Amino acid sequence: MRQPVAVYPGSFDPPTNGHLDIIVRATHLFPKVIVAVTDNSNKNPTFTLQERKKMIAEAVRRYPTVTVDTFSGLLVDYMTRKKASVIIRGLRAISDFEYEFEMALMNRRLNKRIEAVFLMPDEAYTYLSSSLVKEVFSLGGSVSGLVPESVEKSLKRSG
Ligand code: ADP
Repeated sequence: MRQPVAVYPGSFDPPTNGHLDIIVRATHLFPKVIVAVTDNSNKNPTFTLQERKKMIAEAVRRYPTVTVDTFSGLLVDYMTRKKASVIIRGLRAISDFEYEFEMALMNRRLNKRIEAVFLMPDEAYTYLSSSLVKEVFSLGGSVSGLVPESVEKSLKRSG
């Protein structure tokens, strides 16, 4: 059987320990995981594409089967170029479900050979999001334990 390459796409603005939890779970299931940072300019990211890529790369350094890349355009086109067949997404509370379901069905419509796999993070990260991290940090709260150390340093530099 061919070993599927998995792609974990997202904004990662910035990456959190919830994202990292999903990445580690994916490494247990797939021989190769590509974390693909999206250049989705209509989301108006706080960190540049290269900053986000660098922060994740630092956080996953100890996982040799994980690579970090960037992409723009359609995810399914990027996946075809990478010969990848599995999309990894994280599912937190019920609030993620509708959007994720919609995206998965659209991606399937665009390429029926691509399968989406949803992973649940540790319950400690169920209510953790990049936007919440940015909000807490901007109001002077501690984000220690919520984001990888490299991200905490970047936040301090940017703030
Ligand atoms: P996007 O803009 O593509 O939603 P995000 O960086 O917000 O990018 O999220 C990427 C993926 O990671 C999504 O599937 C999202 O549900 C998941 N995710 C985000 N935060 C967490 C978390 N705390 N735990 C598990 N999955 C998460």
